[in-house]
Amino acid sequence: MSADAADDYDVVILGGGSGGYACALRSAELGLSVALVEKAKLGGTCLHVGCIPTKALLHAAEVADVAREGERFGVHTTLDSVDMTGVNAYKDGVVGRLHKGLQGLVKAAAIDYVEGTGRLDGAHTVVVGDRRLTGTNVVLATGSYAKSLPGLEIGGRVMTSEQALSLDHVPARVVVLGGGVIGVEFASVFRSFGSEVTIVEALPRLVAAEDEALSKQLERAFRKRKIAVKTGVRFAGAGEADDVVTVSLESGETIEADLLLVAVGRGPVTEGLGYEEAGVTLDRGFVPTDDRLRTNVEGVYAVGDIVPGLQLAHRGFAQGIFVAEQIAGLSPAPIVESGIPRVTYCDPEIASVGLTETQAREQHGDVETYEYNLGGNGKSQILGTQGFVKLVRAKDGPIVGVHMIGARMGEQIGEAQLIVNWEAHPEDVAGLVHAHPTQNEALGEAHLALAGKPLHAHA
Ligand SMILES: Cc1cc2nc3c(=O)[nH]c(=O)nc-3n(C[C@H](O)[C@H](O)[C@H](O)COP(=O)(O)OP(=O)(O)OC[C@H]3O[C@@H](n4cnc5c(N)ncnc54)[C@H](O)[C@@H]3O)c2cc1C
Repeated sequence: MSADAADDYDVVILGGGSGGYACALRSAELGLSVALVEKAKLGGTCLHVGCIPTKALLHAAEVADVAREGERFGVHTTLDSVDMTGVNAYKDGVVGRLHKGLQGLVKAAAIDYVEGTGRLDGAHTVVVGDRRLTGTNVVLATGSYAKSLPGLEIGGRVMTSEQALSLDHVPARVVVLGGGVIGVEFASVFRSFGSEVTIVEALPRLVAAEDEALSKQLERAFRKRKIAVKTGVRFAGAGEADDVVTVSLESGETIEADLLLVAVGRGPVTEGLGYEEAGVTLDRGFVPTDDRLRTNVEGVYAVGDIVPGLQLAHRGFAQGIFVAEQIAGLSPAPIVESGIPRVTYCDPEIASVGLTETQAREQHGDVETYEYNLGGNGKSQILGTQGFVKLVRAKDGPIVGVHMIGARMGEQIGEAQLIVNWEAHPEDVAGLVHAHPTQNEALGEAHLALAGKPLHAHA
């Protein structure tokens, strides 16, 4: 291809992560011509350094816990050791198989997959090496990166989630800076693998975006697991010597560790990509859009982590599909951000959808809540887990929030999201039969109770 050769497409997508590749696949299904530009690996953060590898580590962590705790169930097992070479081989195997499958899907869809770093040159052209890809529509999907704090350099014993995913040994002592989703998931893994773990969080509670009741229960469960939780404490600095990193807090306390995991949030990848030069408005680096995911520039859309809001892979998928359908003229219904389910896969798991109690009070004024304790649920007792299902309902109205915590509760989010998004009333759900003994019954029981007819719960 010559230096000034132009390729014309209906859609040119910059970034092949969850948002970008979903948009490419759906666009191709709808008969649009598509170019998908990716500088690293198809699948992006989620597949290679996010959702999938972390969940593989969390599964290995669960296996370690099961081996350690067999005695509790009358089964004589002991945990010998955790071999990170083996754990990484298992994790990389999962990622590798999914990557291959995804590459096959993109190839079969006749998407023009362009490897290389792309940059906007005007609103409708993406330049990659000597190729100029011109799109009637351009979709920005360049994702996010792990942030650090001022003066805190990543390197050596100071890592982000990306480096922490391929450790060749289990560190004896870990400090996790940040008690959000990524921080608590890694804290959970390290603890199960045998590390001493301390979480330092500046906000007053862990998983601060969740309903307060979930934060309290998680902190209780983590303390029981002997994970030290320091909330409302600000990080002051970190110094590294040969074999130790010393973390100082503004309270004057210092903590020595073998590894400092920095999990203080993720920033948008939008710098130096020609966005602003093309006239695209940025807000603190993010790309604001309207509810149809249009930027301020005609024919330029944005999806995924660069759009302000929840940074979740399934939000990226949904937005990518939405934009493809929008471009194809199908007029899809806008995505309601609060209806997107959220799962944090630490032990115990957290799963929620809809409004927290505080948000519901702000939006609806009068609300009713109900907490069904997993102590009354047969399957939860069999698993030996503690937690609850909390429902938030607009007074005499639909369920507007479901908040759950306990082992495997992430699996319950499917029904919970239908309840919230279909605006079900407790009476609607109370009429549905939930299989026994499942943890899913806890969701049914909570609705029975809120409908005024509790079964395995006190009135
Ligand atoms: C440790 C961790 C765990 C997570 N766990 C979960 C989870 O369990 N569930 C969940 O829903 N979400 C999870 N997430 C979040 C999820 O990974 C992101 O929300 C999702 O990947 C965002 O998709 P995206 O398409 O916006 O961006 P990305 O997946 O980041 O993709 C952007 C792509 O664009 C490419 N790119 C960037 N700039 C250029 C350029 N100039 N030219 C060409 N290509 C470029 C990048 O290489 C990348 O492949 C996790 C994230 C992390 C870090």
